[in-house]
Amino acid sequence: MATDQYTLQDPTTQYPGPQFPAEQQQAPGLASEMDLKPDHGEATYRGTGRLQDRVAVVTGADSGIGRAVAIAYAREGADVVLSYLPSEEQDADEVARLVEEAGRKAVKVPGDLSEESTCRELVDRTVEAFGRVDVLVSNAGKQTAVEEIADLTSEQFDQTLKTNVYALFWLAKAALPHMRPGAAIIGTSSIQAYQPSPNLLDYATTKSAINTFCKALAQQVAPKGVRVNIVAPGPVWTPLQVTGGQPQDNLPEFGGQTPLGRAGQPAELAPAFVFLASQESSYVAGETIGVTGGSPLP
Ligand code: NAD
Ligand code: MG
Repeated sequence: MATDQYTLQDPTTQYPGPQFPAEQQQAPGLASEMDLKPDHGEATYRGTGRLQDRVAVVTGADSGIGRAVAIAYAREGADVVLSYLPSEEQDADEVARLVEEAGRKAVKVPGDLSEESTCRELVDRTVEAFGRVDVLVSNAGKQTAVEEIADLTSEQFDQTLKTNVYALFWLAKAALPHMRPGAAIIGTSSIQAYQPSPNLLDYATTKSAINTFCKALAQQVAPKGVRVNIVAPGPVWTPLQVTGGQPQDNLPEFGGQTPLGRAGQPAELAPAFVFLASQESSYVAGETIGVTGGSPLP
């Protein structure tokens, strides 16, 4: 285990690989109830002022990749507005505590982002609290594996599209009027956009839609000084995977097929989101950073 994200070590053994526990919860699940606890960087992420005094909105900030991003952003100097589902209050409280321990403000805004009104409210609450939006991380997502198209309901298809794609559209549309030059929007894609699993028909479809949406929007808003980019994770150990994101039988070997031979941990995603939010990436727009354990993106 690293003491921080800068200490040199072997990435193949930095975190656990197969076998993972075939644990199960009901979606959306809680990080606090996972048997094998993910690493969100609580003990390791070291900030160096890369996002000093930014105002960041992070969706799905309670757990998984979003929690790691919220912790990292706060330790880099940002105030963070945390979006999550009402049933995840316990996880969100923990993240709010960590943000405040970093000396920054945390504002909790629970709600279902598959409704346009909730997306607008999230931005409104941010503007009420801070007067602007500097970083929008659209990270909330729904993933439910279904083996056969015959069993994929219209309700699920609709809910996956609403949560993963429409929310990004509604949030970006609401946030842009409150963004100054230098602001950033980051979409969360997946290796699934490029190598779709047959049992993730709806989910994989949303991830390529996110890519295309972000690349188009990036060109539209670049002249205003707002950069839109994408992070595409590979397999990462989070509640998403143990709440029906994978068939339970696939969990023990989860991530084992990647060149690095193991699943990623949320903490390993945070630096890509920090880079794309910070001024360091001033000439990067419409770009995708893959954090896939070595599986190539086209
Ligand atoms: P996670 O379960 O920790 O986070 C997903 C979050 O989405 C939940 O915590 C929840 O707060 C939020 N959410 C879901 N439905 C919502 C709704 N209707 N309204 C508001 N919020 C809602 O899992 P994670 O793996 O950290 O997922 C974060 C993102 O990473 C997702 O977009 C996911 O598709 C993407 N991703 C994950 C993996 C992986 O292997 N874990 C791989 C590629 C991409
Ligand atoms: Mg969660």
